[in-house]
Amino acid sequence: MVYLHCPLCGTTIHASLPPRSKRCPRCLAEGEYPVPELVEAPPREGEHPDIDVVRRAFQLLERGQLERMIALFAEDFEGRPMSTRVVVRGRREADEFLRTANAGDRSLEPDVYRFERNGQGQVGVFGRLRVMGPEGLVDTPAAWIYSVQDG
Ligand SMILES: [Zn+2]
Repeated sequence: MVYLHCPLCGTTIHASLPPRSKRCPRCLAEGEYPVPELVEAPPREGEHPDIDVVRRAFQLLERGQLERMIALFAEDFEGRPMSTRVVVRGRREADEFLRTANAGDRSLEPDVYRFERNGQGQVGVFGRLRVMGPEGLVDTPAAWIYSVQDG
């Protein structure tokens, strides 16, 4: 696994193969020239606390540590999953949502490879989502937006 990280804007790329471009896609898209080179290392903890907390949530989910993941959510958390029209409110509903999505032969497996922050408390996460259900396996590109409070 390779970590590439832009020290300027905090974009973090997490890939099994080194990407073709060593330049930051976020800075490139925003027209910042010269585009900074990505640093080949995980981002330093504490450099961008908003990215740290969102990365941590996905790491816990990957390891199946749902309770510890949910503990990172605010008590007044609101989630709008793409898969349904339901609004998930609070830690208890978030826990129920994840348990239902992973019950029996169902599973919800995110595979995330890019994290971007906008510096105003929101972190975008890009990757793929594999949903296993009674109808079989669906694998789609996916994105998540997290609002982060207090780092
Ligand atoms: Zn950048």
